[in-house]
Amino acid sequence: MLRFDDRVAIITGAGHGLGRSHALLLAERGAKVVVNDLGGALDGTGASTGPAAEVAELITKNGGQAIASTDNVATPEGARAIVKSAVDAFGKVDIVINNAGILRDKSLGKMTVEDFDNVLAVHVRGSFLVSQAAYPHMKEAGYGRVVNTSSPAGLFGNFGQANYSTAKMGLVGLTKTIGIEGARNGIKANAIAPIAWTRMTEALLPAEFEAKFTPERISALVAYLVHESCEVSGEVFSVGGGRVARVFVAEGPGWKTDDLTPETIADHWDEVMAEQPYVQSATESMQRML
Ligand code: NAD
Repeated sequence: MLRFDDRVAIITGAGHGLGRSHALLLAERGAKVVVNDLGGALDGTGASTGPAAEVAELITKNGGQAIASTDNVATPEGARAIVKSAVDAFGKVDIVINNAGILRDKSLGKMTVEDFDNVLAVHVRGSFLVSQAAYPHMKEAGYGRVVNTSSPAGLFGNFGQANYSTAKMGLVGLTKTIGIEGARNGIKANAIAPIAWTRMTEALLPAEFEAKFTPERISALVAYLVHESCEVSGEVFSVGGGRVARVFVAEGPGWKTDDLTPETIADHWDEVMAEQPYVQSATESMQRML
């Protein structure tokens, strides 16, 4: 069994849905958990101490160790306070799971600047700020695990989610860069693109998804990715309904010429669009270089 004894985990947005499930699983397996949640509505308005406190109490009642934090991930002070709570209560930070999120769905023409900025602030700025605040502690320990929460809507696009999909693809870049920068200090960062039945999706998914697309089926992958035995970094995984798959950015073989003009590009468009993500031999690799 993969356990987390003596590990300290910060989980943002852990008052509901996926974050709650991640917190319960890690705590059950020995982690000391900071249950962070602002406790607002799905669109990010309002705040309440209830959800974070409830999850922390449930963990404690079950014999685990947890504290509640209601700080806002989207502000530098909030992110610093979340990390400080972990260090004050448990002495360190080993794991950061950036999960807090909000929705402000509107089609491109109707989306306000505020809808766009607020969604990016929670998902992208929040993940950046909490990771950045935890980073010195991880660096000093020579160990860290970060999981960011992307979405299929970001990887593949989705109607009515210009703000959300921009944020979720942004998290792929953040994950890859934390993975690269963290490598020399034993810090690994990966991202998930989940589908699960939560308050965020219950109005959108078909009713029969509820039993199969459970948050627990997302948490299993998250727990693996934040375990010390996990070797990968900078990767993105699609997860939902019991299936896990690696998602990767691929570049085709392309078309190359010394005479690149709009017209020659148009003439060779099929080659530009060709999909052949794998080089299959050293000779082929060399040919591409040449
Ligand atoms: P959820 O609404 O149940 O959970 C999100 C939590 O984040 C809420 O408890 C909310 O209070 C908290 N939160 C929001 N803003 C915050 C802030 N500024 N600071 C601290 N906490 C804040 O939804 P969920 O489905 O569990 O979503 C969790 C994450 O998974 C989100 O990032 C979401 O975008 C992502 N996601 C979910 C799905 C899905 O199918 N459920 C799909 C793709 C991505």
